Amino acid sequence: MKEFPAGAASAQRLGTQDLHVHTDMSDGDLSLAELVEVASGLGVTVGVADHVSSRNPQAFVSGPERLERYLAALEAAPVLRSAELCWCDPFSMEVAASLRERCHYLVGSNHGFALPDGTLASPWWRRLPTAWADRPQELMEIMVHNLCDMVTTMPIDIAAHSTLLPIALMEMERDVEAWWTPEREDRFIDAVLKSGVAIEISNRYRLPHDRFLRKAREAGARFSLGSDGHHLHQVARLEWAVATAARAGIDDRHLFFVVA
Ligand SMILES: [Zn+2]
Ligand SMILES: [Zn+2]
Repeated sequence: MKEFPAGAASAQRLGTQDLHVHTDMSDGDLSLAELVEVASGLGVTVGVADHVSSRNPQAFVSGPERLERYLAALEAAPVLRSAELCWCDPFSMEVAASLRERCHYLVGSNHGFALPDGTLASPWWRRLPTAWADRPQELMEIMVHNLCDMVTTMPIDIAAHSTLLPIALMEMERDVEAWWTPEREDRFIDAVLKSGVAIEISNRYRLPHDRFLRKAREAGARFSLGSDGHHLHQVARLEWAVATAARAGIDDRHLFFVVA
């Protein structure tokens, strides 16, 4: 099902598959039919990876019946079948193994990670809670630890927007490499190599950063391109991701490519 071509550099496949797209079956704007139409107009094959998680019961595919309807809809459409699972969500964890049988691949995301005090941290924090305000590097350390655990323990194929940093940290220090130190990069790269999980290049969040991508490519990691599109003007758009992959020396040989 998945193919990793060897041989000479070629970039014919780069940008032809958007493996992370949402529809209105979770929190996207477009219906599945509308998505298919937009993607085909752009000449891109889409992998639908709606949120399968109980973290937002109203918006997400959050229970067994809804999940069955979701999978049946995907099976009837000319799309690649996937799901975006939340690290730290019980429903995501519960259905992960069985989802593999009906999906081409699975996406896992850090949408929240456990802190030692039992609370959940968010990679979208705009402000750090008082208890963490003067320990940002410690928080970063826990986040990297969680990412490594996520790729080594979840039955996923792609780690989405993995290097995303909370805005609260970026406002303290805008240099990504001050948070993603070489040692942390190496640790995460080791974990993806060990697990075989591909690293998503996110057109929406514009990450990972170049140094990380180059190192991961040299170490033998695989990469997927994802728009993480929720809206009409996001879905099947991979311009930034394609340019970034090319800049980091990533071509078809390094691509996680799904042959349906
Ligand atoms: Zn996500
Ligand atoms: Zn997403």
